Amino acid sequence: MATPDRRTFLGTSIAGLAAAFGPPARAAETEASVAPPRSFVYPFRIGEVEAWSISDADLELGEGLDLMWPREAHPRMTELMQQHGESTATLPLYVNVLVLRHGNEVVLFDAGFGGRGNPKLGWLADGLASIGILPDQVTAGFLSHAHSDHLNGFISDGRPAFPNAAFHLLPEELAFWQGKDPDFSKSKRDKRPIPGMIDEVRRNFDILRSHTQPVKDGDKLLNGLVTVHAAPGHTAGHACFRIRSGNAELLHLMDLAHHHLLMFADPAWTIAFDHDPQTAVVTRRRFWSGAAERRTRCFGFHLPWPGLGHIVSDGPVYRWQAEPWRWLA
Ligand SMILES: [Zn+2]
Repeated sequence: MATPDRRTFLGTSIAGLAAAFGPPARAAETEASVAPPRSFVYPFRIGEVEAWSISDADLELGEGLDLMWPREAHPRMTELMQQHGESTATLPLYVNVLVLRHGNEVVLFDAGFGGRGNPKLGWLADGLASIGILPDQVTAGFLSHAHSDHLNGFISDGRPAFPNAAFHLLPEELAFWQGKDPDFSKSKRDKRPIPGMIDEVRRNFDILRSHTQPVKDGDKLLNGLVTVHAAPGHTAGHACFRIRSGNAELLHLMDLAHHHLLMFADPAWTIAFDHDPQTAVVTRRRFWSGAAERRTRCFGFHLPWPGLGHIVSDGPVYRWQAEPWRWLA
């Protein structure tokens, strides 16, 4: 019988799960026959600000619903997925990097996986090049949390990938990973890759140390363009970001949702990668109710590319209403 690891490998084709949440996938695990897909780069605007959603990867999580908790909700999850024609054997994992340009500022919100050894990952650099943004033109990078699909793209060949960019994150996230013994006791995830993950995050934080400028909950940066929101649970220092330009607003949900059906149909359904699932649920409910009430335009890091949409309240539950995408004139 297949072990969870084997199933992960099969489902992701190229060890996507290990790459997503543990050490980087080894080149030997890539499928040499898969041609690198072209990056998906979606332009849009937030008021006066130019924005892009750049897909960084093509991944599926091989455990499918086995990653989701609580277990007793699996029949309801299965029913929901089947109603929408979605597979339960694997879960898609979109990786959407939000990029803004306003005046001389070029701002990234997380940076994907980085690296070039695996054709299924690390497309941000090519996506930026395709819109004429060079790495040294990036002026600021905001980090939601330090999992490898968010942090590793800030590093290139052991150096900061964006040499002129300030690197912003909550101090709680730094403290968690740099603490003596990071606490994963509440997480439902496979614990085996954790020591390697911790080492990698610490190494990457060291590389970015001279660029690091911690920010606090409620801070407004870049003349009010970006507001930082603490959104703990997925990790201790997980952050969401609100972008404002004139009357336009975009709330970046980051890892409050890993699936476009599951975390909305019941905000209490959690994924194994949450460090503290209970706190993640409290945080999710708070953000979902606020965004639904105010009809806030949202952006999801792990929602179907390009990741724009609204959270709609539907009786006691919610749903993700993806924004129809359009050509930008
Ligand atoms: Zn993530």
